[in-house]
Amino acid sequence: MKKRLPKEIFKSLMKTVEAGEKLDPTVADVVASAMKDWAVEKGATHYTHVFYPLTGGTAEKHDSFMSPTSDGGTIAQFSGKELCQGEPDGSSFPTGGIRQTHEARGYTIWDVTSPAYILENDNGTTLCIPTAFVSWTGEALDKKTPVLRSMQALDAQAHRITKLFGHDDKVFVASTAGPEQEYFLVDKNFYYARPDLLNAGRTLFGAAPPKGQEFDDHYFGAIPERVLAFMLDVERELYKLGVPIKTRHNEVAPGQYEIAPVFETANVATDHQQLIMQVLKKVAKKYDMECLTHEKPFAGVNGSGKHVNWSLGSSAHGNLLDPGDTPHENAQFLVFCAAVIRAVYKFQGLLRAVVASAGNDHRLGANEAPPAILSVFLGDQLADVFEQIKSGGANSSLPTGSLEVGVDTLPPLAKDAGDRNRTSPFAFTGNRFEFRAVGSNFSIAGPLVAMNTIIADSLDYCATKLEEATSGDESKLHGAVQTLLSEIINECGSIIFNGNGYSEEWHAEAEKRGLLNLRTTADALSALITEDVKEVFAKYGVLSERELESRYETYCEQYCMTVQVEANLTKKIARTLIFPAAVRYQNELASACTNLKALDYEFDTDTLDRITQLVKALQDSIAELSAASTGGCEDVRKCCDTVLPAMEQVRACADELEGLVADDLWPLPTYQEMLFIK
Ligand code: ADP
Ligand code: MG
Repeated sequence: MKKRLPKEIFKSLMKTVEAGEKLDPTVADVVASAMKDWAVEKGATHYTHVFYPLTGGTAEKHDSFMSPTSDGGTIAQFSGKELCQGEPDGSSFPTGGIRQTHEARGYTIWDVTSPAYILENDNGTTLCIPTAFVSWTGEALDKKTPVLRSMQALDAQAHRITKLFGHDDKVFVASTAGPEQEYFLVDKNFYYARPDLLNAGRTLFGAAPPKGQEFDDHYFGAIPERVLAFMLDVERELYKLGVPIKTRHNEVAPGQYEIAPVFETANVATDHQQLIMQVLKKVAKKYDMECLTHEKPFAGVNGSGKHVNWSLGSSAHGNLLDPGDTPHENAQFLVFCAAVIRAVYKFQGLLRAVVASAGNDHRLGANEAPPAILSVFLGDQLADVFEQIKSGGANSSLPTGSLEVGVDTLPPLAKDAGDRNRTSPFAFTGNRFEFRAVGSNFSIAGPLVAMNTIIADSLDYCATKLEEATSGDESKLHGAVQTLLSEIINECGSIIFNGNGYSEEWHAEAEKRGLLNLRTTADALSALITEDVKEVFAKYGVLSERELESRYETYCEQYCMTVQVEANLTKKIARTLIFPAAVRYQNELASACTNLKALDYEFDTDTLDRITQLVKALQDSIAELSAASTGGCEDVRKCCDTVLPAMEQVRACADELEGLVADDLWPLPTYQEMLFIK
C-alpha cells in the first residue's frame, strides 16, 4: 500500500487501520484503482467481496473487472463504490428470522482493517476483499460485524484503565488472537467410501481398532513424508495469502495434526483462520487426502479443538496481559487480569454457549477436552498473588528461578512461573489467556465477540470503580486498586481452579461452588439469550436483542439439521450397507452349517447365533431411530435426548457386527485402515 498509494491517502488509511479512526470515504476511488492495478499485474481478472455468514463458512461472489466500452472494446475498471459496497443476493443465508426469504437485500461493506489478498487457481486469479455483511436495515447478518463492534467496545474501556495508570494516548487497543487448529487427514480413497464422513464430516459407525492412541506414539512424532509435504505446501500457500504460520506437529490421535499461526488482531486472525481451514482442505486433495475439521471424526480417539489464545494490547503499551517479572507490583496488569476473571465468572453460560455445537458435544467433557464447566486456570504464581490480595494485599511474587536438570553439558533452564494445565477451559499461559473449549470446526468469531464484550464490560466496571475512588487524585490509586481487586476476587474467585478439570472430584466441587455445568448444546444454547447477556451486548453496541435472538435461532436450527442429517445417514447406511453385509455372512454361515451337518460334521453355531441376534437388534434399532426422527426434528431437546441415543443404539449393533462379519464382506473402510495407513 505504501508503495502504490499517494502519501496522504496511505496515511489516512493507516489511521483507520491502526488507530481505529473513521474511514474517509473519499479515499476509496484512489485505493480501488491502485488495488485493481496490483491485482491485474498478478493476473487477476475478477474481484470478490468475501464475507462470513452465520453458517460459519466463507462466502464469495466473483465479478469481472471488465466492462464494455462504447467502441466495442473492453476496459478493466474498479471504482471506489465497487470496493466499498457490494450487494450479493444473500437470501439463502441463515438469518434466524431477521429477514424473510423474499427480502433478499443484503450489503457487503469493505473492511479496510483486514488485508485484501489474491486467490490463485491454475486457471486464473481473483482479488479478494474481506467485507462485513449486513441487511438493508443495517443489522448484522455475519460473523465479522460483531467482531469489529466488540473490538471497538474493548478499545474504549481499556483506554479508561490505562488512562488511570497515567497513559493517555489514542493508539487503538486491539484484542489479539492466535488460534491453534487441530485436524485429521485421511486417504481420499477411504473418505469417498464412507458416506458418513463425506456427508456428516464424522464416522457414524466404526469399531475401535485393535491399537488406538494408547501408546502415545503419534503425539509429536516424526511427521510422515506425505503429510509433511502437504504441510509445507499449505504453509507456502498461506504465506502467499499473508497468513503467518508458525507451528506444525502431530497431535495425540493417530492421523491427527495441528497448525498454528502467529497471533494477529482479532479481526484479521478471524479472517485468516477461515483461510487456514479453506487452504487445509484444498491442498489435502492435491496429496490424495481429505482434511477433516470436524470435532470428533472418530469415536474412541481424541477429537479436534481450536485453542483460541487471546490477549489485548497496542503499539503504545505492548501486551496488556504481560505480568512482568513481579506481577504483584504490576497493578495495571492485575486489573486487566481481574477483569478477565470477573468476566468469565459473570458470563460462564455465554462462554459455554458460544462453543456449543452438535460436533463439539462429542468432545467437551469427554476427558480429552475441557469439561463443560467453565473455570479459570491462573498458574501457581498468579494464583498465589490473588490469594495474597484476598487476604489483605500482595507483597511478593513466587520467584521463577531456574531448573537444574542434573546433566553438566545441558544449559540451566529458566523455569516458567507456572506449570501448564491441559484440562482447563480458560487458562492463563504466561501473557495471554487460552480458551480451549472452542471446537475445531468453529469460526473463532463467536468466541472472540463474547470475550471482547464481556471483558469490555468488566473493564468498564473496574474503570468506574477506580475513577470514583480516586476522583482524579493519583495518590489514591494504589489503595483503590487493592480494594477493587479484593472485591473481585471475593465475589468471583470461585471460578479459579488450578486442579485436574477432568476429575470426578472437580465436577462435584464445581457444583458445590455453584458453577454452571451445561453438558450439551441443548442445555447451553439458551444461555445466549438470557437477560444479562442481551443487556451486555446491547450496552456496548455489539449485538441488538434482535440480532442476538436471530443468532440463537440460527444455531438451534443448525444443531437440529446436523442431527437430522446424521440420523438420515445412520438409517441409510445401516439399511443398505451394514444389514446386507450381515445377512450375507449369516447366510454363508447357515449354508456352511447345513452342508457340514449333511456330511455328518459338527458345526458350532455360536457366531451364527450372535449374528442372528445382532441382525434382529439392528433392525429393531433402525425402526426405533426411524420413529424418533421421522417428520424431522426441530426441537433441540428432542434431538439431544431421543434422536442421538437412538443413533447410538444402531451404531452399537453395527460395531459389534463389524467384529464378527467376514472382512471381505464388510462394506465400509475400518478405523484400522483410515487411521493408520499414511
Ligand atoms: P501451545 O504451546 O499452547 O500449543 P502454540 O505455540 O501452538 O501454543 O500456539 C500458541 C498461540 O498463541 C500462537 O498462535 C501464538 O501466536 C499465540 N499468542 C502468543 N501471544 C499471544 C497474544 N499476546 N495474544 C494472542 N495470541 C497470542
Ligand atoms: Mg499447540
